[in-house]
Amino acid sequence: MICIGIEGTAHSIGIGIIKDESSLCKVLSNNIKTYKPEKGGIHPREAANHHAKYIADLIKESVVKSEVDFSDIDLVSFSQGPGLGPCLRTAATAARALSLSIDKPIIGVNHCVAHLEIGRGIFKDCKDPVLLYTSGANTQVIGFAEGKYRVFGETLDIGIGNCLDKFGRIVGLDFPSGPKIENLAKNGRKYLDLPYTIKGMDIAFSGLLTASQQYYNKKESLEDICFSMQETCFAALTEVTERAMAHTEKDEVLLGGGVASNKRLCDMVKTMAEDRGASFFVPPKDLCIDNGAMIAWLGFLMYDGGIRMSIKDTIIDQRFRTDMVDVSWRDK
Ligand code: AMP
Ligand code: MG
Repeated sequence: MICIGIEGTAHSIGIGIIKDESSLCKVLSNNIKTYKPEKGGIHPREAANHHAKYIADLIKESVVKSEVDFSDIDLVSFSQGPGLGPCLRTAATAARALSLSIDKPIIGVNHCVAHLEIGRGIFKDCKDPVLLYTSGANTQVIGFAEGKYRVFGETLDIGIGNCLDKFGRIVGLDFPSGPKIENLAKNGRKYLDLPYTIKGMDIAFSGLLTASQQYYNKKESLEDICFSMQETCFAALTEVTERAMAHTEKDEVLLGGGVASNKRLCDMVKTMAEDRGASFFVPPKDLCIDNGAMIAWLGFLMYDGGIRMSIKDTIIDQRFRTDMVDVSWRDK
């Protein structure tokens, strides 16, 4: 099957076209356009207007790049949630219009589940991982148990990417600030004490953000603050991930989300995996960030597993939880 996926939960509009090949995902194209606010955070309406402006051309470009015709597409899928309402509605409207105009079925998918399934789709040996999903708005530790993707731990306040971006905004770094913080951290030498907040299996970052800002106001070196933020946040994420692996007795760990591009985070999780004798997987960057290919792949899995939707089932859900999805396409 050839499937086109439309991603539009937040700042990015992504169109991916995939083909299934011997139970693995072959990406034919994966185009992404990201809205960058001139100042401040993401305004949902402005992001949605950005997506509406580019979506039609992006779909046409993706079809050409994939060397397929519209008539070759077997399925249209899109992210149904969670995300920002206006952005989700824009992507869903485009998906419905495309599905009706090419007369092909439509499937709405859970965005967080797509981050996990793409890892299983591109790595032959990644079969039953614990996913550490670290993106702008979302931070969750997810694993499969008894028919559902369960959230074993998650942020209680802001996502890890958001924490980094907000700090970047306070100290005058461009958006997205994660990569700039990573670079500055390389020259950090002194560890500054920061709140390490794990409650049960959940994590919180807002106290650490405030404390980092206080260090900045006290003229501590920006490099040292960035270094200390990374060490503290990433250690907490690695700890919760390890506990989820121990609890579920899984021996694979997968990274996903934009922050998975961070080498220090990858190194910490990889070391933890090696110490446990577990396998470590991180997809290439364009499949870690919010992208259409992962949406297309999950759409394919669901359709192939017998799930069908009519247009009236495609209503968006801003609060679509990972553990609300009945994972009927997986045996184990
Ligand atoms: P996503 O929401 O999954 O598309 O990811 C976007 C988030 O990833 C933003 O908050 C970025 O700041 C963050 N990000 C991207 N690259 C890096 C990096 N190298 N280190 C830390 N954060 C990053
Ligand atoms: Mg995401």
